Amino acid sequence: MTFSTWVIFKMVVEIGILWFIFYRMLVFFEGTRAFQVLKGLLVILLLFLISRYFGLDIINWLLTRIFGISIIGFIVIFQQEIRQGLARLGQQHLFNFDLEEAEVIKIIEEIAGAVYKLSKQKIGCLIALEREVKLNTYIESGVHVEAKVVSPLIQNIFMPKSPLHDGGIIIRGNRIMAASCLFPLTENPNFSKMLGTRHRAALGITEQTDAIVIIASEESGEISLASDGRFVPIVNKDRLVNLLRSLLVLENNKKKRK
Ligand code: ATP
Ligand code: MG
Repeated sequence: MTFSTWVIFKMVVEIGILWFIFYRMLVFFEGTRAFQVLKGLLVILLLFLISRYFGLDIINWLLTRIFGISIIGFIVIFQQEIRQGLARLGQQHLFNFDLEEAEVIKIIEEIAGAVYKLSKQKIGCLIALEREVKLNTYIESGVHVEAKVVSPLIQNIFMPKSPLHDGGIIIRGNRIMAASCLFPLTENPNFSKMLGTRHRAALGITEQTDAIVIIASEESGEISLASDGRFVPIVNKDRLVNLLRSLLVLENNKKKRK
């Protein structure tokens, strides 16, 4: 290998590695406030590489300073997101309890049944299913219930005149742990204008934890599922049951096999 091909090879490897790191970081932060800022940093990095390649020394010097300061600023401003992201790294997404498959399927049927009955009557609901990350903080914000997951109880909780209908319920394993819980609202700039607080709360908790949230809209009766800071529209009950099965049962089985 001649000297110049070695230099080009090194440069390609360097750009490749940087590209990979930034790509992973973008995926890591997607759907959070930090995402937009990270895209800005990526542009600065690209300009930096271009200016270095063409030997534009002054611009290169300036960008080096801006980039350094930006990185420190990014870490300080987004320490909360970084902490949460790191806490979630390496955690497997599982319905965190040891239930038999048949029991998980029964719970899914109860939840899906309740959500569909509520949505037909245009009654809003917000249901969070805990997985690996404990939702204790949010459980404590509500009223402790600790009851079996059965459809009539879920429907009852969300009835407009029920004392517990405001806020969300949290399900851990085969128990409704609490009702009237407050979830953190998403600050994702792409969503905040279009969505009401129920949907923002649903997204918010899935950004901060690995919970799965099911929402029925009081305005439209539409049902959606949120996980990892994203919404999945639910077109019918089978779709909801299948999605929950693949999110909860299959992963649970994978864990058991391991
Ligand atoms: P919908 O489509 O059902 O109207 P939306 O997304 O438009 O929902 P709102 O109409 O603002 O939202 O819904 C208000 C309800 O959302 C409140 O009555 C309350 O039950 C619930 N809610 C609001 N904020 C929170 C929160 N931080 N945590 C949990 N639930 C919340
Ligand atoms: Mg509304």
